[in-house]
Amino acid sequence: MRIGVIGGGQLARMMALAASPLGIRVHALDPAVDACAGEVAPLEVAAFDDLIALHRFADLCNAITFDFENVSAPALNELAAVRPVRPNPLSLATAQDRGAEKALFARIETAVAPFAIIDQPQQIAAAATSVAFPAILKTRRFGYDGKGQINVADASLLEDAYTRLGNAPCVLETRVRFQRELSLVAVRALDGEIRCYPLVENVHVNGILSLTLAPAEVTPLLAAAAERCARRVAEALDYVGVLAIEFFDVDGQLIANEMAPRVHNSGHWTIEGAVTSQFENHVRAVAGLPLGDTAAHGVSCMLNWIGDLPDRNRALTVPGLHWHDYGKSARAGRKVGHATITAPDRSTLLRRLHQAAEVLDRQAQIAPAIARLL
Ligand code: AMP
Repeated sequence: MRIGVIGGGQLARMMALAASPLGIRVHALDPAVDACAGEVAPLEVAAFDDLIALHRFADLCNAITFDFENVSAPALNELAAVRPVRPNPLSLATAQDRGAEKALFARIETAVAPFAIIDQPQQIAAAATSVAFPAILKTRRFGYDGKGQINVADASLLEDAYTRLGNAPCVLETRVRFQRELSLVAVRALDGEIRCYPLVENVHVNGILSLTLAPAEVTPLLAAAAERCARRVAEALDYVGVLAIEFFDVDGQLIANEMAPRVHNSGHWTIEGAVTSQFENHVRAVAGLPLGDTAAHGVSCMLNWIGDLPDRNRALTVPGLHWHDYGKSARAGRKVGHATITAPDRSTLLRRLHQAAEVLDRQAQIAPAIARLL
């Protein structure tokens, strides 16, 4: 069995590493010759819209998936005629468009931040009166890791923000005053079975995920609401594979922010912190295999290494720390690796985080995790 992954980044790389013990080979396709999945899986170098290369790639594989959202949905549709594409192109197309995504959340009765669509400059004035400020203007498509979005303090700044985003179709959203950010990673199998990992708490810095604490401390009611939302999204899209939904927790109520139709950075902790990792479960679902247990072992903190890696040798002195170097060169804002610190309970995790803060030059990054565990 071979699974073709469109995209050859760290997500494809971790899928390949999880697939290997199952006897499943992952092939990746990416335009970059040095795409980091290429270190652990055969890499086809081609543009994402090169239909000839995509067909050649699909011919090599039994099923197709993807590791990022900006794959061309029409190209994926074409491949779906010759090979199973999981998740399906409709799921990708929905997640690619913040407008379609919000319409889906409305259809399944999940709350979102108050918003207005601005597809044309003529819609700016109406949006400015219907949405409360401060707000955030986000491009409908091609945004990720905080890119393609601008904070808009008041209505007078909206036109300028729209121009700065290149007059692209946008969504204007009220800035939500949340207590914390949560996300849920779920997986749906070919036969419709859905399993959810525990809700986790995320800390973002400059729109990029900095750390994840798993599981989050939540009421059973909140956990059930998040699971209900994930089930409804997965069922509405006839989804197969891993899916992530990001939420804001506002006074104990969940507001959905966005969905990712793929394995997700806030699920990296599952490699060591859950019975079955999100990568293995994604591969299982795409291959049509039974799903694995999504329960957590104890508690975990995932720290993203952004820009460059801290000192590995010092990091490895921290008990329970698991190191992941993606094999990427250092560059500002780039996710080059992560570490997950696992522990049997919160007080042990707290002690280990203090140790990590002592030996690594990442005190500011680790401090919010320590604060949440105190
Ligand atoms: P997104 O690309 O939509 O995931 O946004 C990246 C990050 O920006 C989120 O994780 C939040 O930290 C912040 N953010 C996005 N939308 C909102 C909002 N409506 N209110 C407050 N913060 C937001």
